[in-house]
Amino acid sequence: MRPNSQLLKHRPSHSSEREFGGTLGAVCIPVFLPLTVLFLTGVSRSPSASVFQWPPALPSSGQLWDPLAPAILLSWIALHALLYMLPLGKVSEGLVLRNGKRLKYPINGFHGLCVSVLLLMLLLWLGAPLGYLFELLVPLAVCAVAVSFLLSVYLYVRSFWAPSHALAVGGNTGNPLYDFFIGRELNPRIGDFDLKYFCELRPGLIGWVVVNLGMMMKEAELRGSPSLAMMLVNSFQLLYVADALWNEEAVLTTMDIVHDGFGFMLVFGDLAWVPFTYSLQAAFLVVHPQALTSLGAALIVALNGIGYYVFRKSNSQKNQFRRDPTHPSVAKLETIATATGKRLLVSGWWGLVRHPNYLGDLLMALAWSLPCGFSHLLPYFYVVYFTVLLIHREARDERQCRAKYGLAWDTYCRRVPYRIFPYIY
Ligand code: NDP
Repeated sequence: MRPNSQLLKHRPSHSSEREFGGTLGAVCIPVFLPLTVLFLTGVSRSPSASVFQWPPALPSSGQLWDPLAPAILLSWIALHALLYMLPLGKVSEGLVLRNGKRLKYPINGFHGLCVSVLLLMLLLWLGAPLGYLFELLVPLAVCAVAVSFLLSVYLYVRSFWAPSHALAVGGNTGNPLYDFFIGRELNPRIGDFDLKYFCELRPGLIGWVVVNLGMMMKEAELRGSPSLAMMLVNSFQLLYVADALWNEEAVLTTMDIVHDGFGFMLVFGDLAWVPFTYSLQAAFLVVHPQALTSLGAALIVALNGIGYYVFRKSNSQKNQFRRDPTHPSVAKLETIATATGKRLLVSGWWGLVRHPNYLGDLLMALAWSLPCGFSHLLPYFYVVYFTVLLIHREARDERQCRAKYGLAWDTYCRRVPYRIFPYIY
């Protein structure tokens, strides 16, 4: 579809609106969240695993550093950069940018996952002590935080050489602290290598399942074989990561790629937060083994299955509708017109609640924590954090949709009054 040049010309290139608490958030979050990662990775391995313990079970200075950690982390990022550049899979175009052009992206993240799995199997076969990742968890997290800061500084500095149409609408406020945090440049690239797209689903997301595998190997070293609870956590989260990479093309239409600049918030989230806080359940299970009955396991598998079904079906329905509204799987769904020419679904999954994909994601989040039992709060950190994240994300998306669709969005909200949880919220 050819972009309408008049419309593109009038799209704003700059916004003074601040998100995440503005400058205060931009100062506090880069301090507070890295400390949270170190605190949680430290606590998950401690015998008490108590988030309320005082003084907190912070890692000692001797536990923070291991020369192996930067070597492993940098090799891992380099491996995935290499896999990204290999001519595997198809090449897709992103949405139309403000200059009327579209960028090309390699859709080969799933290949990256498969190659990683093969390499890990080879390493295991060669007798590599993958369980040592348990000892390396805190030093690796420290390095990931350091890499996030360095990359964010590089991104901020280089953004001053980018043309104004390449800057993110919300990341170009002129306040250096806020812009560093939220990201100035929308799609920073070195040649054809897209830094944001690369970080979004590869080193951190695949790194998360590798950390999980390391925890499983550690458990097997300690107790002879991995527990059922550990296998469930590993399988559920591998399914989630594999699904994200299998459907990698869908990331091209997400808020992260289309709207947000690439700054500390996304860099840190992708490279440090995801691999080290999403793997808390597996790290917890190494020190706190859980006996799980077959019935308990079956109920948890069912909950994860239902969550996955709702998540996948709703995401696919919207993606299909946005790609081709005449496709037989979506053509009969009821829709409402908007002034932009795009239509909004008001039946099917998107007629149940305004974010059915978030509902499915949260059901899965609960299923990932339940194998850890009820003795500690720590394994439930992910569910609590993710609920807060998705409620906040839903509000951000809602604001953007109201700005985009105006009255049509209000009509949609009246037709579908609940945001995430039917009859509750
Ligand atoms: P969504 O996939 O929810 O997309 C929101 C967009 O969908 C809106 O901006 C609008 O865009 C379009 N839309 C909204 N309502 C309708 C409708 N009724 N009909 C048609 N289009 C509609 O965005 P996210 O990026 O937030 O989420 C994607 C997935 O990623 C979710 O499943 C989420 O749970 C998951 N996620 C996971 C995270 C994690 O850390 N594990 C973090 C963040 C997200 P438009 O109209 O312009 O097309």
